[in-house]
Amino acid sequence: MQEFLINSGVLAIDLGALIQNYQILGDRVGANVGVAGILKANAYGLGLKEVATELKKQGCPQFFVATLEEALELRSFDENTPLAVLGGLFQGQESTYIEKNIIPVLNSPDDIKRWNKWGQDENKKVPAFLHFDTGMNRLGLSRHEFEILRDDPSQFKAVNVQMVMSHFVAADDWAQAWAKELTIAQGDLFSDIAVRAEKLWPNVKKSLANSPGAFRSPHYHYDMVRPGYALYGGNPTPEKTNLMHHVVSLKARILQIRRCKKHETIGYGASYKLNKDTRTATIAVGYADGFLRSASSSKDNQAVVYYEGQPCPVIGRVSMDMVTIDISKVKDKPPAQGDAIEILGQHQSVDDLAKSASTIGYEILTSLGHRYKREYIKG
Ligand SMILES: *Cc1c(COP(=O)(O)O)cnc(C)c1O
Repeated sequence: MQEFLINSGVLAIDLGALIQNYQILGDRVGANVGVAGILKANAYGLGLKEVATELKKQGCPQFFVATLEEALELRSFDENTPLAVLGGLFQGQESTYIEKNIIPVLNSPDDIKRWNKWGQDENKKVPAFLHFDTGMNRLGLSRHEFEILRDDPSQFKAVNVQMVMSHFVAADDWAQAWAKELTIAQGDLFSDIAVRAEKLWPNVKKSLANSPGAFRSPHYHYDMVRPGYALYGGNPTPEKTNLMHHVVSLKARILQIRRCKKHETIGYGASYKLNKDTRTATIAVGYADGFLRSASSSKDNQAVVYYEGQPCPVIGRVSMDMVTIDISKVKDKPPAQGDAIEILGQHQSVDDLAKSASTIGYEILTSLGHRYKREYIKG
C-alpha cells in the first residue's frame, strides 16, 4: 500500500530480531535442551503464521498454543511440527486431536480418564502431555491427584505420556524475595514430580521454564524450555537490562496540530486542563487499536510517545481512535499533519509502554490492533 493511503498506524515486526531472540534462548539453555515456541493468542499478537514459519526454520522442536482453534489454524499451514494445546481437551474433540496430530495437555484426573477411555475404545495409544499445578492454582494436576493416579496405572493404559510440565507463578519478579522463594519452591516440587514421573514413564520429557524461568537457573531447563514473551522482545528478567532484541515497532500519524490556550481542556471528560498555552498533536491511534485507555494522563500517570526521538507526553484521555500529545517541547522542525509518531520502537520498549498503562508488556502485545498496516521485516 502506498504511504499516502495509510491513515492508521504501521506495525513493523522484525523477524530477524525474533530469530536472534530464539538463538539467545538456545545459547542460554545449550544444545541438549529444546526451545519450544509459545504461539498462543496469534503468537502474542505478532502473527501466528509468520512467527511459526520463522521458528520452524530455526528448528523449533515444539509449538504450544492455548486453544484447539489456534492449533487448527496452525495446522492449516504446518502439518507436522509437534504441537500441543495448553487449554486441554473438551469432550467431543478427541478425534480432531488425533486426525490433526495435535497433542492435548491434560490438566485433571477427569481429562486423563476421558482420554484413556477414548484411546481404549478406539484401540489406540493416544499421546498426551501432563500439566502439574505447582503453585498457580489455575490448571493442572496437584501432587495429591498424581499420587492417586500413580497407584492405578490402568488409568494410563491407552495414554502415551510424552511430557510432564508445570508453569511458574512469579519467575519474572525476582526483585521481590517472596517471588524468588516461590519459584524455588515450585522448582523443588517439580523436581520431585519429575523423578516420580520418570519411574512410571522412563522416556518422559520434562518441561518447566517459561521465558523468565529459562534465565533463572539451569535446574529449570530440563528437556525443553517454553518461552513466549522473550521471543517477542519482552524483558524476561525485568530487574536487569533486557537481553532480548526489539521485535515490535509501531508508528502512528499526526491527524492535526492545534494551538491550545491556557485553562482549556483536552479530550473526553475534560480530564486534563492546560496550565499554559500548549501546542498539541492529535494522533491516529486509540484504545480500539490497543493503545490502552489506562495510558490516559492522570496525576500519577504519564505515558509518552516520540517525535523524531523527542518525548511527547500523552495528555487527556485516550479515545477510541485518537490520542492527544503535547508537542510544545519539540525542537527544530515542527511536527506536521501526516508525520509519524513512534509509539513502540527504538525509544520505547513494550515494557516501557506497559508501565505507563499500568499493565504488563504481554497485554500490550496481545492488544495490538487490527487496523494497523503490518509489515514483516525479513530476518
Ligand atoms: C504462556 C505460557 C508460557 C510462556 O510464558 P512466557 O512468560 O511468555 O515465556 C509457557 N508455558 C505455559 C504453560 C504458558 O501458559
